Amino acid sequence: MREREAQGLRRQRRSTATPGLPLQHVHLVPDEPAQALLNFSSNDYLGLANHPTLVAALAEGAGVHGVGSGASHLVSGHGAAHDALEAALVDWLGGAIPEARCLSFGSGYMANQALLTALGDEASTVLFTDKLNHASLIDGAQLARAQVQRYPHNRVDRLTALLAESTAPLKLIVTDAVFSMDGDLAPLPELLALAEAHDAWLILDDAHGLGVLGAHGEGSLAHFGLKSERLILMGTLGKAMGTSGAFVLAHRTVIEWLTQTARPYIFTTASSPALAHATVASIALVRSAEGVALRERLHARIAQFRQGMAQRLAQHPACGWQLMDSATAIQPVLIGDNHRTAALGQALMARGLWVGAIRPPTVPVGTARLRITLSAAHSEAQVAQLLAALGALMNDARVEGAV
Ligand SMILES: *Cc1c(COP(=O)(O)O)cnc(C)c1O
Repeated sequence: MREREAQGLRRQRRSTATPGLPLQHVHLVPDEPAQALLNFSSNDYLGLANHPTLVAALAEGAGVHGVGSGASHLVSGHGAAHDALEAALVDWLGGAIPEARCLSFGSGYMANQALLTALGDEASTVLFTDKLNHASLIDGAQLARAQVQRYPHNRVDRLTALLAESTAPLKLIVTDAVFSMDGDLAPLPELLALAEAHDAWLILDDAHGLGVLGAHGEGSLAHFGLKSERLILMGTLGKAMGTSGAFVLAHRTVIEWLTQTARPYIFTTASSPALAHATVASIALVRSAEGVALRERLHARIAQFRQGMAQRLAQHPACGWQLMDSATAIQPVLIGDNHRTAALGQALMARGLWVGAIRPPTVPVGTARLRITLSAAHSEAQVAQLLAALGALMNDARVEGAV
């Protein structure tokens, strides 16, 4: 623990006292009074986590279906609410994959464990994974005991070479669709073309694209207009969708195989049917005209932030910060040093702004960053407030050489 402290790696858990973006009351220190902070560190990209429609749907779902499922899916925990959720997901997203079916999970972490362990075995499978993939994909690959070939971030040329050399009977390309700590997109059309050319499957984790990208929030596949039998889509429900849980959408044979063999699916209690019911309401909302308006609002905030940051960084070139190349709700500012990043997080907090100070092992050593996440729940004035605070801290960094 002392070592971690010295390296600037100690993490603090904070407790929110009020729900919902943008302004939250937060206990920064346990048992001390809560402080009001503008939250720029949540993945609630559309501001749905505390939306009245979802709050009502959860209560209604509890009334109709009950709170707990009581057992795992294959014993007796699977019910009408889970069926409705899986059907709603196929109806919404199934166009991208012929003969698609869907399987719901309690969390994205578990869905990735399930996918990679069920499809990857020591004898026949090679997993080709992007080096910046989410921890749940990295852990899933380890648990699978399959051979793993990592390629540098988004380097299609390197992946091409690895695939060309491989004689494995089962090849799985595994990638975040939107990278969780960088905000950039994987080159999905190129990756899919490679999968076709090398008889491989493409596993996509669209945790940060779902709800945010695509005309009706369908995510990264719709953003690129892709459709293929070789696609296996994992999406999470705890980010833009505002509830919690996850799903895998794939050809019906893949889904049947997961149902039969994926231990993280089989040996866990089915998630709350009330929550599944609320998520069906969330899907309807995200697909509706209100969802379209929320996405427009979010993308206006993203443009405002990027333009404001670029302007301020041009005025303070000596501060050494770098706005990363992202068109999504995840807008990281690369700082580099762990202590400096943590200090900036503190300085923003002192100004009433809650921004994630992301350090290793979440990101590679030397690339600590402020991970700013924007939401449709933020107003233009609130984003302006964040920009002003960052501008002031840039100025300090230039004067002092460090924060
Ligand atoms: C958040 C996240 C997950 C995990 O999903 P949970 O539902 O939070 O467990 C998986 N993959 C990516 C890319 C994520 O950002």
